[in-house]
Amino acid sequence: EDIAPGSPRRISIFGLGYVGAVSLACLARDGHEMFGVDIDPGKLELLRRGQAPIVETGIQELTRAVMRGGTVSVTDSVRDAILATDISFVCVGTPPRANGNQDLTAITRIAEQIGAVLPEKATRHVIVIRSTVKPGTLDDVIKPAIEASSGLQAGRDFSLCFQPEFLREGTSINDYDNPPLTVVGADDQYAVEALRGIFGHLPCEFVHTSVRTAEMLKYACNAFHALKVTFANEIGRVSQSVGVDPHEVMKLLCMDRALNISSAYLRPGFAFGGSCLPKDLKALLYLAKNNDVELPMLSSLLPSNAAHIEHAVERVLASGRRSVGMIGLSFKSGTDDLRESPMVILAERFIGKGLPLCIFDPQVNVARLIGANRRFIEESIPHIASLMTTDLDALVRDSDVLVVAMKTPEVLAALRAHTRPDQLLLDIAMLPDRDTYRAN
Ligand code: NAD
Repeated sequence: EDIAPGSPRRISIFGLGYVGAVSLACLARDGHEMFGVDIDPGKLELLRRGQAPIVETGIQELTRAVMRGGTVSVTDSVRDAILATDISFVCVGTPPRANGNQDLTAITRIAEQIGAVLPEKATRHVIVIRSTVKPGTLDDVIKPAIEASSGLQAGRDFSLCFQPEFLREGTSINDYDNPPLTVVGADDQYAVEALRGIFGHLPCEFVHTSVRTAEMLKYACNAFHALKVTFANEIGRVSQSVGVDPHEVMKLLCMDRALNISSAYLRPGFAFGGSCLPKDLKALLYLAKNNDVELPMLSSLLPSNAAHIEHAVERVLASGRRSVGMIGLSFKSGTDDLRESPMVILAERFIGKGLPLCIFDPQVNVARLIGANRRFIEESIPHIASLMTTDLDALVRDSDVLVVAMKTPEVLAALRAHTRPDQLLLDIAMLPDRDTYRAN
């Protein structure tokens, strides 16, 4: 089968979370015929109504447009999706277990379900794993699962490959269109050409490598991002302690041509969090430990990150003030993702210290959360959900301490209008525009 690069394909997406929902919408916009599959009926229902199942910059508008276009179907039937398409992207979650290792339950289940349908197909199917998985997972877990349930052989009867996902929550549609790199880890050329046809037009290098290298690369990238954030925060704290503006230091550092380094992830600010960096760092450390490899530097990143959160707690406690108003709860602007949010950890520390707490985050609409976010807020942090308010002005007026992690125009206006000189204003986002409302 010869398919010209860029021609429309029939594509299924398994797992409609942050990665899957963005891929579904962007691929549909690019003219492909799409099938979205998820086990969460709430997500399918939202999509059928033309609404995105996640909060993410630009995703509502794009989802509404592509769902109206009539080229997107959503279903909970793996069979329907596999039979109706030629290529499947698997984007289900690979969450951390308590020991740091990955939980591969969802991805193994999908592999078995896809395998069970493959023998019914007349044409060769391409399965692309986009979930982040440790090196060796495709060869040792996913391929055997598909082969056992199908009785078919990878490379001969169907294609299996790994394509690391580089999007960042908050900017993921833009990241989809401008990825830093497209990497395909594959043993068979058919898969590489199929992906070149879909992603070859993007303005970045398209690289074919081994499956294991591509799997490892994603961990190396995320470890480096975490390293940059940790570095910027440590330099930021010591700069502030000697009365130096950390932003200027980092700006000049990035101008050093010998370093040749991008400023991304190098802005002094709050601790890193979210569903990827902490989880992938833990999985990498677990992998190294299992292979008797010592990683003193990478092992120090999570403790340094925790110390950064603790530093904020100590500043509030040392002030002797009581009631705390927190602005921002998700792990960064542009997303409602609460997983491993440092703001959630901060809130729990304040609650533990008995401080009255009130939280504002317009992105986190407790009544509308679904999927993993809903389960997380209901099962893990119901005490935090009950402290959320939509009355930003009252929060700013009535708190002794304001912890500011997001500075939208709405937040800046409220701060300008209602802050008092006797309040402690903790600008933990350390964003450079702090003088625009009040010198701290
Ligand atoms: P997510 O938790 O937001 O979404 C996962 C989705 O998979 C959920 O909607 C869930 O209902 C669905 N699912 C679970 N089991 C299923 C099954 N058996 N069949 C069909 N659907 C099922 O996860 P995410 O943040 O989109 O991340 C997905 C993967 O991509 C992870 O491995 C993650 O490490 C990786 N990744 C995420 C990002 C990111 O920014 N979030 C970036 C790069 C890579």
